[in-house]
Amino acid sequence: MALTKDSRITLNDGNRMPVIGLGTYAAPDVPRNLGEEATKAAIDLGYRHIDCAYIYGNEAEVGNAIRAKIADGTVKREDIFYTGKLWCTYFSPELVRKGLEKSLKDVGLDYLDLFLMHWPFSLKPSGAENPYDAEQPFAYDNVDFCATWEALEACKDAGLVKSIGVSNFNRRQLERLLNKPGLKYKPVCNQVECHLYLSQSKLHTYCKSKDIVLVAYSVLGSHRDKNWVDLSLPVLLEDPVLNKIAAKYHRSPAEVAMRFILQKGIVVLAKSFSPNRLKQNLGVFEFEIKSEDMKTLESLDKNLHFGPFKEMKQHPEYPFHDEY
Ligand code: NDP
Repeated sequence: MALTKDSRITLNDGNRMPVIGLGTYAAPDVPRNLGEEATKAAIDLGYRHIDCAYIYGNEAEVGNAIRAKIADGTVKREDIFYTGKLWCTYFSPELVRKGLEKSLKDVGLDYLDLFLMHWPFSLKPSGAENPYDAEQPFAYDNVDFCATWEALEACKDAGLVKSIGVSNFNRRQLERLLNKPGLKYKPVCNQVECHLYLSQSKLHTYCKSKDIVLVAYSVLGSHRDKNWVDLSLPVLLEDPVLNKIAAKYHRSPAEVAMRFILQKGIVVLAKSFSPNRLKQNLGVFEFEIKSEDMKTLESLDKNLHFGPFKEMKQHPEYPFHDEY
């Protein structure tokens, strides 16, 4: 069946995730109200999946937008699929529920649709209220993510979140979680960096075999926030091969970059705070990339991480030392 903006993928716990989601991360110097306005515009345009996180420092504004769109009758709560993420300073089992409750309070919702462990590694709790103050410098901790997972399972049982999953896990870490004695719920998804320059094909094949959905971030080549991304890396949307194919389909490079991921059966997150681009990006549902062009686009893979989070390289749970 043809993909539309209303298409959803059924997760291994029966909940359904829209195949396209709005990314909401913006650098700390971007005014927070822009995320609020963009979220409202996105919901007006038909986006139903909103990806956010405690560490983005904008859950209050994104939540304001969602609640405003529920209040004005544009959507009902159950139409929206809201993802939050547990930051690495909240991994001690006794802090997990507190982290989730903080997100629920900030976003102003009774439940989250999905809550992810943001990374597989833990950091020492800092106690700071402002997430940006809290995380500098990064102090490694050694909480086993399997223990964090059990606390997340309890949050699902308590009805605070509908689905639970992980982000930035490699295959070995997923396997460890899946083989955890007494596992009650499998992660429904693994949200990872995935785009034309980082195909994640082996991780995708593994996740599919375990009924875990791959969710792609930085599909447009990332936010290029200098705090996280080496700006000497190539600009994905300027890739000449991508641009040639986009011209052939009379589509923007962004639409082709997103469509490529969608056609692989991967859920796409894309961030824009511009109403025009939000609208243009929904054009992904109006065309299909032919198999010969998919092959050409596949050849662009260079295993390039825009956001390798290098500060974590010495952490025993750093996920990117493994091939995948
Ligand atoms: P994306 O790859 O989605 O790219 C965002 C950039 O692309 C912005 O600068 C945006 O600018 C620009 N853009 C959007 N549409 C177009 C277009 N049509 N033409 C040209 N440029 C365009 O960035 P992210 O790395 O932010 O990834 C998306 C989301 O994934 C994040 O916002 C976040 O929700 C999530 N994420 C999760 C991570 C994790 O660890 N789990 C890590 C990183 C991201 P403008 O706003 O001006 O349109």
